[in-house]
Amino acid sequence: MENTLDGNAAAGILQAIFPFEMTLVQVTCTGCGTTNALGATAVYMHGMGTIVRCPVCDTALIRVAQTKGRNFLDMRGVRVLQIRAGT
Ligand SMILES: [Zn+2]
Repeated sequence: MENTLDGNAAAGILQAIFPFEMTLVQVTCTGCGTTNALGATAVYMHGMGTIVRCPVCDTALIRVAQTKGRNFLDMRGVRVLQIRAGT
């Protein structure tokens, strides 16, 4: 069973892990080089965790698995993570 959501759903999950505002984060895809706001990506949630995919080429940008009180992030699909500097 898999649910497709928009990137804002992933932002909520990642917000629990990262200390910066995730909706403002931009990711560059290793597959096609496209840069997208996290909120503009496609997100798939299922029992094993969450997968954030590139809306252009479908590369898995970020995989998040939560198990045994730990968050496991596989970010091999992200070439560059842009984080807005603090104000
Ligand atoms: Zn891509």
